Amino acid sequence: MRSGSRSILIRNGLVVTSSDECLADVHIVGEKIQAIGSNLNPAVDQVLDASGCYVIPGGIDAHTHMELPFMGTASSDTFESGTIAGLHGGTTTIIDFAIQTQGDSLHHALSRWHEKAAGNAACDYAFHLAVTDFRDNFRTEIQDLVEKQGVTSFKTFMAYKGALMVDDRQILDLMREAKKYGALVTSHAENGDLVAQTVQQFLDEGMKAPEYHPKSRPPICEAEATGRILDLAYSGNHPLYIVHMTCEDALNRVRLATLRNQKVFVETCVQYLLLDESRYLEEDFGGAKYVMSPPLRTLRDQEALWKGIDQGLIQVVATDHCPFCMDQKRMGTDDFSKIPNGAPGIENRVELLYSEGVEKGRISLQQWVDLIATQPSKIFGLFPRKGTISVGSDADLVIFDPRVEHTISAQTHHMNCDYNLYEGWQVRGKCRTTLMRGRVAVDQGQFLLEKGYGKYLSRTGKRSGGIHVANH
Ligand SMILES: [Zn+2]
Repeated sequence: MRSGSRSILIRNGLVVTSSDECLADVHIVGEKIQAIGSNLNPAVDQVLDASGCYVIPGGIDAHTHMELPFMGTASSDTFESGTIAGLHGGTTTIIDFAIQTQGDSLHHALSRWHEKAAGNAACDYAFHLAVTDFRDNFRTEIQDLVEKQGVTSFKTFMAYKGALMVDDRQILDLMREAKKYGALVTSHAENGDLVAQTVQQFLDEGMKAPEYHPKSRPPICEAEATGRILDLAYSGNHPLYIVHMTCEDALNRVRLATLRNQKVFVETCVQYLLLDESRYLEEDFGGAKYVMSPPLRTLRDQEALWKGIDQGLIQVVATDHCPFCMDQKRMGTDDFSKIPNGAPGIENRVELLYSEGVEKGRISLQQWVDLIATQPSKIFGLFPRKGTISVGSDADLVIFDPRVEHTISAQTHHMNCDYNLYEGWQVRGKCRTTLMRGRVAVDQGQFLLEKGYGKYLSRTGKRSGGIHVANH
């Protein structure tokens, strides 16, 4: 080994970014990309041959919930197990949600999430802060969170009445306060009052199986809340990011907003692109695996989301990774409303989006990279340190072999969950090697990092890529 920083040369890969592709070598020194070019020949400690493979930026999953206390239990992946699973599947950064307990301070939520992640996360991580109780005494915390703690995005739940849900007054106050410091407000858009009422109706009529979960929160719940939050953001010219959009009705509210030149960021998740509501009919309580909110929708909605991606209305594909094992799901055996909401997905996102998106001609290689890495880095203040391949960027890279076919299974995945939503799914293309800040984190299925390699990413409120909030 040479003295100084460790160095790696990735040879002969097709380097793919959100805008380009070229056959090139990538030279890494320490944690950073040192050079990209043809026939590079520096003295290095290690050479990785990427012939026939794509070299892409490490994935950024902008929506995860590791060890989240929720609905009387906690999601089953820790920061350690969940991020190791992510690295196996080509994700090198997560943005997890620190969630305020109503009545408690925002800073306390952040410190609790730091405690869970520090020394445990294998990949790098940042936090959104979910504001569930926004009163004057918590308002004063926003500036410090943005300017000193590196938390530049906040989340509001328009659903989960009585636990997480905030009203319009709180959303408006938060938007106003966040904007002062360049921060972004994100939203779970479902009408919580409407959901609560419909759920109760089903339960009252004895309809308590998992298949009534999607029926109890139909697209109108999501479309109404989407339209409302778009209007609230428009009223004050606030930037807005809508998480996990699932359906055409909600997407059409975004289309309408574009008619008045409103700029909004939209995220969907892999499961909404690939799975539909028929899954809730799986026997032996199997439908419970898919209980998440918003729920899986119809094939028509899937098609609308793919088209929304192609039209540029949807910028990000995340996972909402929030796994619960079957024994946890069984808390709702007699009542679908008690089934913990959430499912695993972090490990399969990058490969599934390639296999179902690029291989099937729905998106280009560049769109794939944009959706899984570049857009989330730009929107959430991590670009160009993360989300692209350029000189000086962190060496978070995936050597992706498009020739390898494999089958997804809970038997072989690394997520701490006893099922996989895509069990038996045939996938084309595999993350062969994942590099995390200049270190080989996973190679051919072997995890190689020491415990707690991941670092906290302090973000800035600066969004990149020519993105501005329209004046009106
Ligand atoms: Zn979520």
